[in-house]
Amino acid sequence: MEQKSHIAILPSPGMGHLIPLVEFAKLLLLHHDFHITCIIPTIGSPSEAMKEVLQALPTSIDHVFLPPVSMEDLKGAKPGLQIILTMTRSLPSLRDVLSSVVATTRLVALVVDPFGTDALDVAKELNVSPYIFYPTNAMVLSLVLNLPKLDETVSCEYRDLPEPVKLPGCIPIHGRDLIDPIQDRTSEWYKMFLRRTKRMRLAEGIFINTFMELDGNAITALKVETKNLPLYTIGPIIQSGSSNPVEGSDCLRWLNNQPSGSVLFVCFGSGGTLSYDQMNELALGLELSKQKFLWVVRSPNNELANAAYLADQPLDNNPLAFLPKGFIERTKEQGLVVPSWAPQAQVLGHSSTGGFLSHCGWNSILESIMKGIPIIAWPLFAEQKMNAILLTEVLKVALRPKANEKGLVDREEIAIVIKGLMVGEEGKKVHNHMKNLKIAAEKALSPNGSSAKALADLASQWTNQPDF
Ligand code: UDP
Repeated sequence: MEQKSHIAILPSPGMGHLIPLVEFAKLLLLHHDFHITCIIPTIGSPSEAMKEVLQALPTSIDHVFLPPVSMEDLKGAKPGLQIILTMTRSLPSLRDVLSSVVATTRLVALVVDPFGTDALDVAKELNVSPYIFYPTNAMVLSLVLNLPKLDETVSCEYRDLPEPVKLPGCIPIHGRDLIDPIQDRTSEWYKMFLRRTKRMRLAEGIFINTFMELDGNAITALKVETKNLPLYTIGPIIQSGSSNPVEGSDCLRWLNNQPSGSVLFVCFGSGGTLSYDQMNELALGLELSKQKFLWVVRSPNNELANAAYLADQPLDNNPLAFLPKGFIERTKEQGLVVPSWAPQAQVLGHSSTGGFLSHCGWNSILESIMKGIPIIAWPLFAEQKMNAILLTEVLKVALRPKANEKGLVDREEIAIVIKGLMVGEEGKKVHNHMKNLKIAAEKALSPNGSSAKALADLASQWTNQPDF
């Protein structure tokens, strides 16, 4: 039997889940010589972006794809539901893989993300310690851990509550801004979500991709509530590898020729989509702002804001065809549009980038913090409205455009907010707050910092775990 301590990680489908978990695995290797296996449930064939991340892993991290599960009965279902069911339907093959790992190595822990809570039982069956990697902030974790209590005490839809919800240590937040899966309590989706939140307490610990200096009040309050469930703040853990080198080099080459801090990067995560009308307004708002921009464009979708989330290929080969007539030609000196994917971490780290219009996915936020880039918050789905409130009202590192009575953010509003961030007085303040947050993040990760210590403690706990 291999004597190195072995860790298994189980990311759920989607780049936003895979990236932070593999980065977490890489960080663990800095603390100890673990062997790590990334076990990947799949729906179809893995995307190019995913293969690229996996191919770049160090040799101590291997990966296994679980056999693709059938989603024939769920065509057109919400990506979130597809993700949950992929995890559930992959349990038999997960059990097989884990059993063989247990038979040949010293497997000390299985780390799942919030979609993988059904796998906690499989770990327990095999005498492996189960943990959850929670890829967002403490306010969202607090909501999720408090949801069973809220469910018992609130009788209406949360969005109809007259008062904001007060989570311990967090800014009060209106029910309509809470995470998507709890917006319709009559739905099957809500029931599944609630069941999974209760199961989170089965873990032996939860790692949160945040840091004390960002989330201290909420974490301290949460730790009081979750005495038997250790919480480890280990962030910010962000993407370190590169993305598609061909498209990437175009973006970076273009950035090389732009003035320092002049470019607004516009990207809605790995799968965010706008409606056709909203995409049109955004294009015209960018143009009107007269600020430089680099925009990762996706084909619009009028039904879903995360339509491209599980797409293994771009939904449309030519999303640029949906841009307003003449837009590319008119803005050729002002901006660059790239279809579907850009090397975000490198773009944010480029000296020409000065702002980020983001859908407020947590990975994107942490990447922006680590590069000190202020944000225009444009939340779309999942927990992103909560993230946007944290950024604008608590941390004050973002500006947020307002939607009109039709729910559309119009071009004039977009242009005003972009100018405000890139060249306005408001933008300067936001920029300064972001610089301070970047310094705090670096401190948390420095050898004696809060996150580095939490990770080192964890690594030593796993290394010294007695054999059973
Ligand atoms: N990403 C990227 N290029 C893109 C879009 C996204 O590299 O064009 C990466 C981004 O850097 C981040 C992840 O994909 O690491 C997106 O995660 P996030 O939590 O921000 O949003 P999600 O995709 O889960 O909605």
